Amino acid sequence: MNGQNNKDWLFAARAGLIMTLRGMGMRDTSTLAAIEKTPREAFIPSALHQHAYDNVSLPISHGQTISQPFIVALMTASLELTGRERVLEIGTGSGYQASVLSHLCRRVYTIERIRPLLVEAERRFKMLKLMNITSRLGDGQFGWPEAAPFDRVIVTCGASEIPLHLLAQIKDDGIMIVPVDSPGGHQKLKKVTWNEDRSAPVVKDMIDVRFVPLLSDVVEDKD
Ligand code: SAH
Repeated sequence: MNGQNNKDWLFAARAGLIMTLRGMGMRDTSTLAAIEKTPREAFIPSALHQHAYDNVSLPISHGQTISQPFIVALMTASLELTGRERVLEIGTGSGYQASVLSHLCRRVYTIERIRPLLVEAERRFKMLKLMNITSRLGDGQFGWPEAAPFDRVIVTCGASEIPLHLLAQIKDDGIMIVPVDSPGGHQKLKKVTWNEDRSAPVVKDMIDVRFVPLLSDVVEDKD
């Protein structure tokens, strides 16, 4: 494909994805606009470029995946962002979800446990001139205490139970979206908030999902 054909194809493929998401019931226009602004092909291996705008999860490296666009859209919309929030993401991965969020909130803090993935994601944030993303290497299950409290937390790896350390780092009216293991080897996407006197979490089940597991060891090595 020559440059112009490739550009035309990307433009059409991106518009097609937005139509697919609408067709699946995604009505949040600001979420759809942020997805439309984010070049997913920049977040995946070049061998998979023709699938960049398919509504499927795709392998990145180190056995990790970039989420299915519908799930990215659903999780993003469920955060109910107004543009003023500070959002913590656990599991930077390719950086795609963080990039989508960066258009919809004040600042994204994102933590990744695998250094080479983090380095790649940071390169993409720079290339796309996304200046409101702060990232670091570490075990995200303990959150980012120095930057807490957050308005929102989004966990993009599967937790074995509701991560209370992270819940402790959201404000009283905060929202956490997290995939949690459920019986039978499934994962349920959950929306977690605090009750009125912050004495207990309020948990709403959303849909079944499949994320790579949340693991606690930090990986320093290269490929
Ligand atoms: N949000 C990513 C997809 C994430 S895949 C994207 O848009 O591409 C899940 C990621 O979570 C993987 O990169 C994995 O390494 C990371 N991860 C798993 N457990 C973690 C932990 N305890 N702390 C930080 N990152 C973790």
